Amino acid sequence: MSMFKAFLIKYAEIGLKGNNRYLFENALCDRIKDALKPLGTFRVFKEQGRVFVECPEDYDYEETVEALKRVFGISSFCPVVTVADTDWESLTKAVGDYVEAMYPDADFTFKVFAKRADKNYPISSPDICGMMGAYLLGRFPNLKVDVHNPEVSLNVEIRTKAYIYSVEIPGPGGMPVGSNGKAMLLLSGGIDSPVAGYMIAKRGVSVDAVYFHAPPYTSERAKQKVIDLAKKISRYAGRMKLFVVNFTDIQLYIYDQCPHDELTIIMRRYMMRIAEHFAKQENCLGLITGESLGQVASQTMQSLAATNEVCTMPVYRPLIAFDKKDIVEIAETIDTYETSIQPYEDCCTIFVAKHPVTKPNLKKIRHSERKLEEKIDELLETALKTVEIIEIE
Ligand code: ATP
Ligand code: MG
Repeated sequence: MSMFKAFLIKYAEIGLKGNNRYLFENALCDRIKDALKPLGTFRVFKEQGRVFVECPEDYDYEETVEALKRVFGISSFCPVVTVADTDWESLTKAVGDYVEAMYPDADFTFKVFAKRADKNYPISSPDICGMMGAYLLGRFPNLKVDVHNPEVSLNVEIRTKAYIYSVEIPGPGGMPVGSNGKAMLLLSGGIDSPVAGYMIAKRGVSVDAVYFHAPPYTSERAKQKVIDLAKKISRYAGRMKLFVVNFTDIQLYIYDQCPHDELTIIMRRYMMRIAEHFAKQENCLGLITGESLGQVASQTMQSLAATNEVCTMPVYRPLIAFDKKDIVEIAETIDTYETSIQPYEDCCTIFVAKHPVTKPNLKKIRHSERKLEEKIDELLETALKTVEIIEIE
């Protein structure tokens, strides 16, 4: 059983939000509750500009730490030992026992940081620091005080209970999901789009996703891979809806009617149109893609301009200036990489031309799309009607 009975949550940017600060704090508390719910009955509460998590007796420390590391809005968090008796004798003993348990060699430089949130406590913060330091030096002969650069910062906060902590675990940063609207992620089975979704969620945005499936050209396993990726993203972004659109007939029709070197661009324009339909339906305020300048033919400046032309909502492309290796690094950190590199074909690779245009001419693209007039509306309607919606928890 862990000696830590609580966590002190530190947040950075949401502290800057002026009058809206409480909204961000509330969203942060809610997201922490969501993250810890499957792990037991935790109490999450705000107190004097701090967020605390109180743990149940039988909680799993490692699991809890892992869950907190995924809650956006947390800049860092500290496992805390709580002391119910705050009289001086009990408190000094508890701090000494903490040192003994955490640092069995008891050989380091330290500084005591005291915070007296309970102003009725009879000893002032500077005196707590001084007296606690003296007590520890007496109990552990190898300790030394270093007020400028201590190896261990020993924090003692006195509230209705006293809190002791000295370890700070980095959180993911960002803003609590749900504090900043919702966007629709175009989620393929590749490396880039899951990272793009993660990055926008990190700025406090809730995420739904749309995947274009092209059976029988893309297999059930390709679809399952996208579902797996959505689950991985939802570990950070919370619950999401995944819209699986059957794109086969639209792709085949484009393939039949349009010049093959323009296939990818025209197909991508239809993906954007369909994604926007579901985005509006779900009250999203933007689209998200994993596009990165120059990565492939459909991601040159000209191609992106051609794709973007059909969008009426903002399109967020958080990876636009990222090198592949930097994207891979994030994919590895958020544990989507191994899933993304499973070798199941996606719908773009099957219909891709040998020599796709890299500088599409918008007039020509619009002209080619006119060749779709006869049947495209009906095909779009069917695609929208037959969408499969998967709830990702
Ligand atoms: P990714 O690694 O995300 O698949 P990519 O480098 O393979 O990206 P493209 O295939 O050109 O690049 O796709 C660019 C973006 O378009 C993707 O990041 C994704 O947002 C979206 N996209 C591509 N294919 C699909 C699909 N089948 N379903 C949903 N979105 C897609
Ligand atoms: Mg792809």
